[in-house]
Amino acid sequence: MPPSPKRTKQSPPATPHVRVAVVGSGFGGLGAGVRLRRAGITDFVILERAASVGGTWRDNSYPGCACDVPSHLYSFSFAPNPEWPRSFSHQPDIRAYLERVTDTFGLRPHLRFNAEVTELRWEQEQTRWRVTTTVGTWTADAVVSAAGPLADPQIPDIPGLAEFPGKVFHSSRWDHDYDLAGKRVAMVGTGASAAQIIPSIQPLVGRLTVFQRTPAWVMPRADREISAAEKWLHSKLPPTGKLRRATLFALRELQVDAFVRRPGALRLVQQIAVRNIERGVGDPALRAKLTPDYRIGCKRILLSNTYYPALAAPNADVVSSGLAEVRGSTLVAADGSEHEVDAIVFGTGFHVTDMPIAERVFGVEGRSLAEEWKGGMEALRGSTVRGFPNLFFVIGPNTGLGNSSMILMIESQLNYLIDALTTLSAVGATAMQPTAQAQRHWNLELQHKMTRTVWNTGGCTSWYLDAEGKNTVLWPGSTSSFRRATRKVDLGEYELIKRTAPVAEEIPA
Ligand SMILES: Cc1cc2nc3c(=O)[nH]c(=O)nc-3n(C[C@H](O)[C@H](O)[C@H](O)COP(=O)(O)OP(=O)(O)OC[C@H]3O[C@@H](n4cnc5c(N)ncnc54)[C@H](O)[C@@H]3O)c2cc1C
Repeated sequence: MPPSPKRTKQSPPATPHVRVAVVGSGFGGLGAGVRLRRAGITDFVILERAASVGGTWRDNSYPGCACDVPSHLYSFSFAPNPEWPRSFSHQPDIRAYLERVTDTFGLRPHLRFNAEVTELRWEQEQTRWRVTTTVGTWTADAVVSAAGPLADPQIPDIPGLAEFPGKVFHSSRWDHDYDLAGKRVAMVGTGASAAQIIPSIQPLVGRLTVFQRTPAWVMPRADREISAAEKWLHSKLPPTGKLRRATLFALRELQVDAFVRRPGALRLVQQIAVRNIERGVGDPALRAKLTPDYRIGCKRILLSNTYYPALAAPNADVVSSGLAEVRGSTLVAADGSEHEVDAIVFGTGFHVTDMPIAERVFGVEGRSLAEEWKGGMEALRGSTVRGFPNLFFVIGPNTGLGNSSMILMIESQLNYLIDALTTLSAVGATAMQPTAQAQRHWNLELQHKMTRTVWNTGGCTSWYLDAEGKNTVLWPGSTSSFRRATRKVDLGEYELIKRTAPVAEEIPA
């Protein structure tokens, strides 16, 4: 519902004011809502550009869409779900879980749908944010950006694509009205989404042509149904669910060292992945195409038991070069080969290192965040950025993971957010921003750790790296170390700002 500012004959319309404006209603935005309420802060709105909650799990409804971190870990610690149907649950179940979280924790009254945030502008004199959306404007003491690391699809600029006469869509904007049965379909990209889509559509399409720039390492997927007995146990004896989660957590924490400090230790894992190719693909020429030439872990490791058999099927083709041009309904690969198709599905990822929300944020002296991040995204503890007081990121720069659940990182950032807001109240300040020194020191240390990681040394390029080759996406450590780093705000790292001017035209939202 749009805000309905009070209006008198004499005064111009007042702008509704909230303590906190949250952008986005995926795991991050909903989690922020829960934690704000638990901290006794009820004066907040969650602004969502779509018409329902769910973020990633609302937008990605492609065939086969599922999580690749076990559900009992890929869920909120404060909202365990004994009813997960599979070890890696499918998108409809994760989406339904987020709808339930919304109801259970009383978030509906805070949600504003179809409210795309078009501008976030810091008002220096008033010491607050002006939040402009497609349904109205709010002012807010603090803003939480949970706009998502993988929310804005990226389609490469391919010459001739606009003139393609057939159907074109991105994996995260699946067109369910378009029937793929019997069609000649091109899948562009071989990342995590493509690896789930390919086996799901291969049996029904006429011909499947997969454009692969770089092959991924694919490991077997230990997916199975959760038995009725397990569900019963987790629901009647909640500590068993906690134990399951703790085990999944610990197994992943143990892997971190290999990714971060000892990429050589991943050799064994790579051997398992090689055997997975051998098992799934009989044809040596196809095997060669599908075998990566970089160390496992450098790009995201995919999990699938059906990907290789689907690519080896008689109606599938792997073109081991990128899509270079579209001429009518003919797709021309970089190697010059031509492929006639009816539909193109782009599994080409998202705007990650060029987060679109950054172009809409204007901080101290009107400086845009995109401008600030021209040399690469950076923040203090993945959360705050100098020049942008009281702007808190959930999944900010360098908070991504290669091997575990992003919900662990989200919950850590929410600890930090809540501690920041309660600290501000406790010390009687209105806003805070990191000192230049604290932000620089954090990022220097982080990038130093990054130099040894498999993501920087494994011999690949990936979406973790920005245009300059800097890894501004991943966290080079364990999730426990990030948890420790974000447990409490260190006031020594911050400048505090007190509101001096009286606040004009503020009414509660
Ligand atoms: C297909 C897929 C599978 C994944 N699987 C896993 C997995 O198994 N394990 C894992 O850890 N991670 C996984 N991820 C990563 C996943 O994105 C995160 O785990 C998590 O869901 C991110 O939550 P979020 O709330 O930060 O962002 P999102 O879920 O992307 O939510 C962001 C929300 O912000 C809204 N928004 C954006 N801009 C604006 C704006 N300007 N105004 C208003 N609203 C806006 C969007 O509409 C969206 O609803 C996967 C991602 C994808 C795409």
